[in-house]
Amino acid sequence: MKLFAIFGNPVAHSISPLMHNGAFTTLGIDACYTRWLLEEGERLKATFFKLGLEGANVTVPHKEAAFRAADKVEGIARQIGAVNTLVRRDGRLIGHNTDAPGFYRALSSRGTFDSALVIGAGGTAKALATVLRSEGVDVTVLNRSEGRLAWFEANGFTTATWETFAPQEWPLIVNTTSAGLKDAALPAPGELLAPLLARAQLAFDVIYGRSTPYLELAKAHGVPTQDGLDMLLWQGVLAFEIFTDHRFGQNAIEAAMRLAVTQSRQ
Ligand code: NDP
Repeated sequence: MKLFAIFGNPVAHSISPLMHNGAFTTLGIDACYTRWLLEEGERLKATFFKLGLEGANVTVPHKEAAFRAADKVEGIARQIGAVNTLVRRDGRLIGHNTDAPGFYRALSSRGTFDSALVIGAGGTAKALATVLRSEGVDVTVLNRSEGRLAWFEANGFTTATWETFAPQEWPLIVNTTSAGLKDAALPAPGELLAPLLARAQLAFDVIYGRSTPYLELAKAHGVPTQDGLDMLLWQGVLAFEIFTDHRFGQNAIEAAMRLAVTQSRQ
């Protein structure tokens, strides 16, 4: 039996085991996917091999450590500097980022957008801003403080803090901050956000499992909303494809993972 895991801290809340084990069962694969609480990111590679894993996902706060741990990094992960999927190939650790294409896959069911405002400047914002730009979307990044904007400026994105922000119209506004995850906070001041949302075509929040104050504000302005569940699902589908060396179609994997998530909620 092949063994897979998700590394994170915390990791107990992750529904990745549910999704991947559901797909292993439905697709008849002899494999098991578990969780591993990892405190030190620098122990990632040693732990991966000690556990005898075939592949792994990596969540907060170890995606940059996973990038460093990989012997080779492929695709858009190289630009982002963060890895959420690791796979063993001939004794080497290969790193990928499926958050970025997973987000775009989830978004594309809602149409196309020529410009976007990305709120937040953490690891998720890097992934989303990078994939949006690679798809031809003009991206502006807004963050409450300046420090993390340096990476975006160095990579040619338009950036602003709440103080330097110049309002304009963005059809797509994405919250990538953790504001609203466990509190009632908005990702930016309400007086700044409300007029932007009023003119948007879609408000996307990477948080899943609850309607955040950000999504509630968007709904109050009659703006269509999307939470992070499909993004989570699609990053899992794309990771599963890599784990199983593209032996299964995306639609079959998606259906199996969605079924597992739906059944767990009944
Ligand atoms: P980081 O810690 O790397 O970044 C956090 C960012 O959010 C920073 O820019 C920070 O601003 C900002 N921020 C945090 N709290 C607030 C607040 N109260 N108000 C305004 N800004 C705030 O986080 P990640 O990028 O790793 O993750 C962000 C979110 O994305 C998490 O909620 C995570 O669960 C979710 N996520 C969802 C996924 C999915 O598949 N749906 C996948 C990956 C992540 P500052 O720089 O000023 O501190």
